Amino acid sequence: MTDVQESPTAIADFGGTVLRPGDEGYDVARGVFNQMIDRSPAVIARCHSSDDVAAVITHARTMELPLSVYGGGHSVTGAAVVDGGVCLDLRGLRTVDVDPTGRTARVGGGCTWGEVDAATQESGLAVTGGRISTTGVGGLTLGSGSGWIERKLGLTCDSLLEVQLATADGRLVTASDTQNPELFWGLRGGGGNFGVVTRFTFRLHEVGPILLGGLLMYPAAMAGDVVRFYRDFIAGAPDEVCGGLAFICAPPADFVPEPVRGQPVLGVMACYVGPVADGYQALGPLLEFGPPAISMVQPMPYVALQQMLDEACPRGMRNYWTADFLGNLPDEAVDALVERAAQPVSPLTQINLIPGGGAISRVPDDATAFGQRTAPWNVHYLSMWPDPADDELNIAYTKETAAAMEPWTTGRSYLNFIGDEGSDRVADAFGPTAYSRLQALKQEWDPDNVFSHNQNIRPAP
Ligand SMILES: Cc1cc2nc3c(=O)[nH]c(=O)nc-3n(C[C@H](O)[C@H](O)[C@H](O)COP(=O)(O)OP(=O)(O)OC[C@H]3O[C@@H](n4cnc5c(N)ncnc54)[C@H](O)[C@@H]3O)c2cc1C
Repeated sequence: MTDVQESPTAIADFGGTVLRPGDEGYDVARGVFNQMIDRSPAVIARCHSSDDVAAVITHARTMELPLSVYGGGHSVTGAAVVDGGVCLDLRGLRTVDVDPTGRTARVGGGCTWGEVDAATQESGLAVTGGRISTTGVGGLTLGSGSGWIERKLGLTCDSLLEVQLATADGRLVTASDTQNPELFWGLRGGGGNFGVVTRFTFRLHEVGPILLGGLLMYPAAMAGDVVRFYRDFIAGAPDEVCGGLAFICAPPADFVPEPVRGQPVLGVMACYVGPVADGYQALGPLLEFGPPAISMVQPMPYVALQQMLDEACPRGMRNYWTADFLGNLPDEAVDALVERAAQPVSPLTQINLIPGGGAISRVPDDATAFGQRTAPWNVHYLSMWPDPADDELNIAYTKETAAAMEPWTTGRSYLNFIGDEGSDRVADAFGPTAYSRLQALKQEWDPDNVFSHNQNIRPAP
């Protein structure tokens, strides 16, 4: 939570607190993860209840002001804040209620994954969550939600049981398989286009609390061999084997030998969602391959695994991201990726290659709005750097790297990891059939496109 001194509100029926330009705490509250975004809302309305959320939506509509929704502030486009408009701030809705017997969690719309993981792990339970603990549950879940344990437990949205939602016309409704099922379909992948979720209810699963996991690190010269080995290994691995590959620069940490620090390396994040002993057996070939220069795979708390990369993704950096799904990964694709990854222009930049398959791929494509379930790979190009003078260099590097991999993409984008790339890329995330269905849903629930400050689905004409 920010250190905010909040002033009284002029928003009708609003029990929350507001910040305006000049108020103490305003500049902290308008900050988002991506330092390239510097927007000044006319008002930041921090909601403390679902009724507050509905009141803020109605206020923005009445005043004809643009509206943004602040969940965890991690959208790389800075969708959480809007210049001169109303920022509906969900960071006051941060409770997590776990029912260990029924194995469900009710999660406030402004929670972060660190909060959810901590609360659910008290009972040895979890739902697939973000790989960085400060990411918002709201944006991540509505965009489908990818996390380390997804091959075993599916995407985050696959464990969503119900949401409470404030609609564009200021009503509070429930969406689930039995109530407003079409809306519930669209909320699982269609992003924040249909309303503001004030409460998510997730099904929980037994995970840990101790599991076998951690990072293996290989020198860049071995990257091609390791990626090829991993590709073949994961294709035959059980669902319990989770993780992914990360082209990174070795951090300036004690466990990294001095000459390697800052050099490009290949990281393999490995984890086994099941008993530790079984994990050693299933991960055995991976742990032995190479062998790795550094191995940090060991029994560890699931929450530690979930925070393992937090330091590698510091807030306050400039960010330019894009992402694609790959339909296959032949040797030529591996070579192309390894060649680009060996020449990063910022030591903070990451390229993550996440395997599909497992539980994700067994959900039918049309069961949720997110419809890219059979792609074997999801690749995220995540460029981060501190200095504005390096913007052009880093943006060009990201675009050129993604372009080098274009021959192997499925043509579908992944909205959780792309920037402002135009309306065609948004439509491409779903394909024509699902996109038409989403447009019809948008027409039904938000015909005036009140929720437009996002990866926007236009209402059906
Ligand atoms: C460091 C970092 C790590 C990440 N790791 C992962 C990862 O492991 N897996 C993954 O899938 N994605 C990941 N992402 C991407 C992330 O899922 C998206 O950026 C997502 O939009 C972030 O959600 P947020 O609530 O934090 O963002 P915000 O910027 O606050 O919100 C983004 C948009 O989401 C919508 N939104 C947010 N909350 C709500 C709500 N309660 N109701 C309705 N709409 C809402 C709004 O449309 C808003 O415009 C990561 C991003 C970052 C920066």
